[in-house]
Amino acid sequence: MSDAPRIGKPLTGKCLCGAVTITMKDAHSEVDVCHCLMCQQWTGSMYAGIEADDFVIEGEDHITTYQSSDWAERAFCKTCGSSLWYKFLPTGNRTFLAGMFDLPKGLPIKHQIFVDEKPDWFDLAQESPMKTGAEIIAEAKAAGFSFD
Ligand SMILES: [Zn+2]
Ligand SMILES: [Zn+2]
Repeated sequence: MSDAPRIGKPLTGKCLCGAVTITMKDAHSEVDVCHCLMCQQWTGSMYAGIEADDFVIEGEDHITTYQSSDWAERAFCKTCGSSLWYKFLPTGNRTFLAGMFDLPKGLPIKHQIFVDEKPDWFDLAQESPMKTGAEIIAEAKAAGFSFD
């Protein structure tokens, strides 16, 4: 879990059709970016997520979850197809799709991961820590997680 400062006020976001509403109560004030190939298939380019320890999800009946690997679950709205969250199964931590929320200006990017899978036509303006897939997997293994 990140020790990033918290945004300090609840933020409510909706999927495209409005059937699913998510309120993050203590969102971390940083954006978590992933460029892996699965995130590209899932979102169109990169996944930008906001972590929250405490949240309320409304419209559960409209949500489908998809286990995209042994360690990850992704959720989307059954009606409009909007991506909703990425959950890291070993810890239960999840990030919610940043684009759903009216976020404060000036949020830093926590890091960009799987930058080795990023298309060469796509760059973010903000300087931020960058990690390849091998680097982020090595970090997670050092923290005790297994991906084999
Ligand atoms: Zn929807
Ligand atoms: Zn990814």
